[in-house]
Amino acid sequence: MLTEWAGVMPPSRLRIITSFLTLSALSDHRADANLSFLKFMIDEFAFDNTEERRKNRQNGAGWIEVIVGSMFSGKSEELIRRLNRARIARQKVQVFKPKIDARYSVGEIASHSGQKHDSKPVTTAAELMAAIDESTQVVGIDEGQFFDADIVKAANELANRGMRVIVAGLDQDYTGTPFGPMPHLLSIAEFITKIHAICVKCGQTANYTQRTVESDALVEVGASDKYEARCRKCFVPHADAPTLHE
Ligand SMILES: [Zn+2]
Repeated sequence: MLTEWAGVMPPSRLRIITSFLTLSALSDHRADANLSFLKFMIDEFAFDNTEERRKNRQNGAGWIEVIVGSMFSGKSEELIRRLNRARIARQKVQVFKPKIDARYSVGEIASHSGQKHDSKPVTTAAELMAAIDESTQVVGIDEGQFFDADIVKAANELANRGMRVIVAGLDQDYTGTPFGPMPHLLSIAEFITKIHAICVKCGQTANYTQRTVESDALVEVGASDKYEARCRKCFVPHADAPTLHE
């Protein structure tokens, strides 16, 4: 039995079990109980085996993580944090953003606080899929709300191939309506992180993005001069004058 497990168990754990087996042999009347305990221990160690877990991770299915919130809630910052941690673990990472988001720099995703990560601008979900390298382990997608509906199918497909897919995006537009493919992505995701900003009017938890300039366009790409984070009470679902700060 021990030789059978020797290949999947670290030598230190094998030594512990061997000692236990020797002790068990000394006491015949408790042999059956000891044997079942030994079997339990072997199962536990095999389950906890790092090499086995690594194989499962490589051969098994991936998953989808979605990070949502209003503007100024720190979504891109959280996405960049997760991507950097994957990079530190030497995982192959690919990052995409829709071409519509022209702020800061074309080849990067950026948070309002100034953190950056390399990214490839793509126009459609199909273009994103075509650019995926099969050896990629982690796929990051920023501004997910601006993608077409096929991004939902794409995220599922990549997770089915074993990749970890992380999508960040606005869950609601400036009218408080669920934004583009985000509600669908939230439905299919294994893990959801909803983060919040602070209402600039009253200091409560902000769940809404308030547009502060007159415009009928759904998308007004820009930052603090056109939008504010507001709480449920202070949010007005149409253009409103910006809050004046002294
Ligand atoms: Zn408020």
